[in-house]
Amino acid sequence: MRGLAGFAAFVLAATACRHPEHAVTLDLIEAFPATDSAGPTTQIRAGDRRAADNFLEGWSPPERGEDGQFIAWSNAPRASISFDAGPRPLETTVVLDCVVGEPSHVPAVFARLNGRPVGRFRLSPGAEQIRVALRAEQQVAGRNVLDLFVPGGHVSAERGEIPRHFGVRSLRFESEAARSPAAHVEGDRLVLTPGTTVTYFLRLPPDARLAFESGERTADRLRVAVQADERPERLAGTTRREPGHLTADLGPEAGAVARLALSTDGTELALVRPRIEGRSVRPAAAAPRPTARASNVVLYVADTLRADRLGCFGYGRPTSPRLDAFARESIVFETAMAQASWTRPSTASILTGRYPAEHGARSLMSALRADLPTMATILAEAGYDTAAFVTNLNVAPRFGFDRGFAEYHYLEERDDRETVYVSAAELNAAAFPWLDARSDRPFFLYLHATDTHAPYRPPPGYAERFLPPDIHPTIGPRTPVLTLLERPTLATADNIALLGALYDGEVALLDEAFGALLDRLRAHGLDRSTLVVFVADHGEEFHDHGGFDHGRTLYQELVRVPLLMRLPGGAGARRVRALARQIDVLPTILAVLGLEPPKDLPGSTLLEAAVPAADETMMETQLGHPALVGVVAGRWKAVWGEARPGAERVELYDLVADPAERWNLASDRPVVVGYARQTAARLRRTRAPQEAAPDTTVIDPETERRLRALGYVDADAR
Ligand SMILES: [Zn+2]
Repeated sequence: MRGLAGFAAFVLAATACRHPEHAVTLDLIEAFPATDSAGPTTQIRAGDRRAADNFLEGWSPPERGEDGQFIAWSNAPRASISFDAGPRPLETTVVLDCVVGEPSHVPAVFARLNGRPVGRFRLSPGAEQIRVALRAEQQVAGRNVLDLFVPGGHVSAERGEIPRHFGVRSLRFESEAARSPAAHVEGDRLVLTPGTTVTYFLRLPPDARLAFESGERTADRLRVAVQADERPERLAGTTRREPGHLTADLGPEAGAVARLALSTDGTELALVRPRIEGRSVRPAAAAPRPTARASNVVLYVADTLRADRLGCFGYGRPTSPRLDAFARESIVFETAMAQASWTRPSTASILTGRYPAEHGARSLMSALRADLPTMATILAEAGYDTAAFVTNLNVAPRFGFDRGFAEYHYLEERDDRETVYVSAAELNAAAFPWLDARSDRPFFLYLHATDTHAPYRPPPGYAERFLPPDIHPTIGPRTPVLTLLERPTLATADNIALLGALYDGEVALLDEAFGALLDRLRAHGLDRSTLVVFVADHGEEFHDHGGFDHGRTLYQELVRVPLLMRLPGGAGARRVRALARQIDVLPTILAVLGLEPPKDLPGSTLLEAAVPAADETMMETQLGHPALVGVVAGRWKAVWGEARPGAERVELYDLVADPAERWNLASDRPVVVGYARQTAARLRRTRAPQEAAPDTTVIDPETERRLRALGYVDADAR
């Protein structure tokens, strides 16, 4: 081991002479668990970009079927499929996922491999599979052609129409597994086995190259395929720089999101310390800014508050004079992302600094994991007085949110109250006596206000200030938002304008109450010693993408949240464009208090570094159908359903060119989609090894009834 390390140091030193600024930007051993390592089974879908390599001839261009999956229709008497058996063919079953339009036209399909019969298959209406078993000796090394003879399938093609009699949605090649164990990692070695491909999706740095150490002949046996987004695949040759040290130049793809596929010929191959090297994209870490210290923390969570409804985030209507003034004394994060689009998982991410997959409070039935440190447990242990006043059932003690707090006051919703939720003014009234009684001991106060959550029922005079003239809504101010969700014809511009004005009225009400809290802190002189953090758990939809309420999608109106932090005396007030995340709130608060965060937190402090530590994050929701996962990485945002693999809808947006998320680029940018998926897997695996945090059923029938009455409907429960 020591010899190897010494050798590696020599290699790196030798490399450093050539490119002083070259550094390892990705360790491919560390990144391996998130890769798609295609083993002996590979699947090709008719709509895949590279499917044309396999659907050789006799097929229509792929056409989207009713279920959204692509189908290639047979449009000639012979439809051919090709595949590469590699240098040593293995016993393989080709599984065709078929669609039969009219059975009268497709009595049977005959299959020939390289001109020799290999089977005859009867089909029935609907969809079904054909499994063509191919013995190793029937195949040839390299390219093989499987012909399918489909009687009648070509008839309408001759008339210039696509004949929809026999189609194929996907091909799967299942090879004899025993002789081809999957690619894997042994220590610092990436082991490529015959017939397997390890695929990385990554952002390549400037001057990128693949580097690794290896034995003799590796350069001849390794296949390095690289594909930058929107460009064709290229084979990158390996070159030997020093004995045993190999590199593959990825310069043509440098700076791009790319797919890197590593495979071998018939020989097993081990790459030692495989890595991507290049010029570091981020400027060298500047000296940390001296952090202004605070003794106390007030965490104010505004439920269901869209960032873009506040003046300090660019809104044109005067909804938020107090927050706007507060923003001028604060560090304002212009691009803060929620980790979920509904209360329980997102608030749990704020309080634990972890993604929902790790903290466990993800579904209607689940509570916060009982063994995780939270903001309250950490600060209580450090000697802080802790108290919380909350107004939303989702963060009630029964879901584990009270752990660590000396006092936890859940001010319950009531159906017979006009606003259902306790107002922010009443929340103040409950919390002020506690605040007034502070002595010299440091404190942590968590307030959770729910005014901007539906129903939007501000007191008289509030909504009127924001109501556009000349609108003629067909709903009343008391019509529940869920009614609009159920009756799309009600989603007219005037009705949405009415809802928006009611919502803005609630924002103004919240703003007043938050201002009153700031006044109270100042009256006690606590503004000079207290860090005040203002954040929303998530936003709200107003038909931006056809919906209302929240928790069902992950568009920006739901996951871009206001995040403001005021240090004592307004120290360091500025606006920050770089990505900030709810998981960063806890480490940032601890840093300002001079406390060490738990070692394994995925987030980082937002105040000390000149450059943000990360420009990627993920979010989820399990309230809708299907449950969704989203990834933001640089300018890209991808969202996909995870309920039914294979039948999912993927959306990809360029947040710089298209901040309103109008143009789904997923089918044009498969490499970026792959990159987003691998980013999600990486964020989960490296930070949440105990992802299996079990969903604990913690709610009694009455709680479930209450949640449903408040508009929460669980995907699992339907
Ligand atoms: Zn909420």
